[in-house]
Parts: sequence; structure tokens; C-alpha cells
Amino acid sequence: MPISDAYKARLYPQLDRIARHFGTPFHIYDETGIRETGAALKAAFAQAEGFREFFAVKALPNPFIMRIMSDMGFGYDCSSGPELMLARNCGAKPGDIMFTSNNTSESDFLAAADKGGCILNLDDISLADKVPVMPELICFRYNPGSRRSGNAIIGKPEEAKYGVSDSQIVDAYKKVQKRGAKRFGLHTMLASNELDYRYMVQTAAMLLEVCRRLELEQNIRMEFINIGGGLGIPYRPEDAPLDLESMGREICQGLSDFKDHYGYVPKFFMESGRYMTGPHGVLVTRVINHKDIYRRYIGVDASMSALMRPAIYGAYHHIEAPGAEGRPEEVVDVVGPLCENNDKFAIQRSLPQLTEGDLLVIQDTGAHGHAMGFNYNGRLRPQELLLHPDGSVERIRRAENVSDYFATLIFEPNSLLPERS
Ligand SMILES: *Cc1c(COP(=O)(O)O)cnc(C)c1O
Repeated sequence: MPISDAYKARLYPQLDRIARHFGTPFHIYDETGIRETGAALKAAFAQAEGFREFFAVKALPNPFIMRIMSDMGFGYDCSSGPELMLARNCGAKPGDIMFTSNNTSESDFLAAADKGGCILNLDDISLADKVPVMPELICFRYNPGSRRSGNAIIGKPEEAKYGVSDSQIVDAYKKVQKRGAKRFGLHTMLASNELDYRYMVQTAAMLLEVCRRLELEQNIRMEFINIGGGLGIPYRPEDAPLDLESMGREICQGLSDFKDHYGYVPKFFMESGRYMTGPHGVLVTRVINHKDIYRRYIGVDASMSALMRPAIYGAYHHIEAPGAEGRPEEVVDVVGPLCENNDKFAIQRSLPQLTEGDLLVIQDTGAHGHAMGFNYNGRLRPQELLLHPDGSVERIRRAENVSDYFATLIFEPNSLLPERS
């Protein structure tokens, strides 16, 4: 179940025209699909008090996409100074931003406190003393260690570098309270691309237990819990999609039980990136070569500079060739031009027989796609386009050019001479 039939119906009839107008390669995102997913998320958690999604900016850091998120009432999850600037440039107010950094530097803290601040999420107990000015509202990222299993992308919690350990969590709040914090939140993020909704239900239940402990042991009440991102999308045709409705129903039930027992309930936040935009983007690239050596290779005009996931994680991205449907199939590797043998979008994949000039649609690139791109080997990142609900297509980021690549290079001598004694 890769991208939806509805997105295909919106995109494929126009694809040739779009490719001729804008040139290839490009990522193209589907505004309609993003809005539908946002509406589904809100519907699933309608019963949760104060529900809010903070879109994980790193998944698709583009102002046009981020404004769609604001328009739906969502905030932003940021983890670096530039991501904070981006969110603020898109109109985010302090309460609209969660800042979840890791191995936080002084400049990260300064960026977080800029422009009225944001909701600061601390990744370690030691940071309680390092925050230059303690905000009134503060949050910690909790790492349950061996109490929970993780998954392949993010690793086991006890091996993951994130968060405050179980034995430190109560003291962590004690410390920030001593420094003047008055309002508190609790965060975690344990899984990535998780398709089993029950994992997320357990995560919400786990946080509620920690809330209880903080109240009993330290008399501190959490204003919100945030289960992070990590909701999965079905990249492979045989993957079943995450059961969002059941996830919503069971988490809301847990929250309402908590309220019945204790007379209050924290607000419920999440910060999905992949789930919000992943299935609503594709990378469109043209076949420019083919070669037959020990295998048949299909060379395309995009490279892993546009999409790293197959190379980094061995990730599967479904590929279709809309103009080639019905041709006999053959097994090929689809490759880019990088001097890296893992610059492959597909390995030994059965695809319709392709010829030069055919367009390929590499699916589910709407999250952690363009954003992870890099310039190794002097390969430049491609443009991004947005398909609006009225069928119009807008360029929302130009392709990188050689000047961008050279922007940080220095051709004049610029050296520190050795000290003379
Ligand atoms: C990456 C990240 C997210 C988003 O993860 P997805 O898998 O895209 O949902 C959310 N929160 C934090 C802290 C992250 O690092």
C-alpha cells in the first residue's frame, strides 16, 4: 500500500506536463493528502484534552508545507537553531514550538530562548543546571531503558543516546523546580516508522505511569505528555497501514481512565513527521541510461543526494513507471550517478521494461527525503514542487546550483600562522 490511488489520480495524468515544465528530477508533494492525514489525526484524538500535533520539521523543512501545518492548528517540533528560525519565520509563537535537542550546546539554548522562547524539552538531567535562564514551562525527554523494546531505525532504548534514564527522572524535575520552573511536561520518543499502533498505546500508558510517579514522589503534576513521532507508513505493498483509529480510541480511553482515577489529565501531544507527509510525496526522475553487464542497470537523473533512505537504511521505496504500465517486466537495479555503489533506488526490482526518457515515480519520499539529501561527490539537491488541491503546481524550492555548492568554499589564503617565540 504505497501512495494512495487518489494521489496517483491527481498526479499521473499531469506528470508529463509537469516534468516538461519544471524539468526533472523533483520531489512533488500532495497538499490534499497532507490535509486529509492532518484531519484524520485530529479526528482520531478528538477526545483527548488539548490534543496537538507538533509537526517534526526535520521531516520536510519547507515553509509552504509548514504553513499547511499551521493552518491545521499544528505546532512544530524543532531540534536545531536553524529549524527554530524556520518555524518562527513561518509565524510560530513560543507555545507553538517544542524544542527537542540532543547533546545540547550553549548556542542551542540561546536559539531556543530567542524571540520569546519555546517549549524547552531537555534531553538530560545535567542540562537542568546548564539552561541559562530557566523557563516557567519545562519538559524532559524520558528514556525507559530496558523497560521497553525499540525498533530497527532508532535502536533499543537502553542503547539510544536520547533522554533521561528511569532512575534520574524524578530528580530531573526536582532540579528544574529548584531553579524556578513552575509548569511541566513529559516527553518520549522510542520508535521510528512503527506500524503497530499498540506500541504507541503502550508508550502513552507508560508516560501516564511516570506522571503518576512524579505526582506521588515529587508532588509535580504534568501539564502535557508528548509521545514523540515514529508513527509508521506502509512503504512496501504488503505492509498494512497503521491503525490510526484504534490508536486514537485506545489512547483516549487511557487518558479518560486516568482522569476518572485522579481527577485531572495531562494534555496529549505528538510530533509526527513521517506519518504527516511521507506518503504524500514522490521523487520523479527520468531514465537517462541503461547498461547490461552482470545485471541490468537503469540509470536515472536523480541520485542519493535527493533520497538517502535506501542507501542508509536499505529502505524500500516503491517505484512505478506510469507511462510504461503494461510492458513486460524485467529485474533491474535503478541507480543514480554517484561514485558509491549504494547509490541505488532499487536493487533487483521487477519493473516494466524501461527506455530512456521514461519517467519513474519513487514513492513515499515526503518525509526524510529531500531533507536528508547531501552534496557528497558534488551532487546537488533537486527542486521541490507542491500540487495544490485545485490541480495547480507550485515550485516551493529551487534546485541547488553550482553557486550554492561553492558558497562555503574559500579560494584566497586564510591561514593562522604559527606563534613565534
Ligand atoms: C525525528 C523526530 C520526530 C519525528 O519522527 P517521525 O518518525 O518522522 O515521526 C519527532 N520527535 C523527535 C524528537 C524526533 O527526533
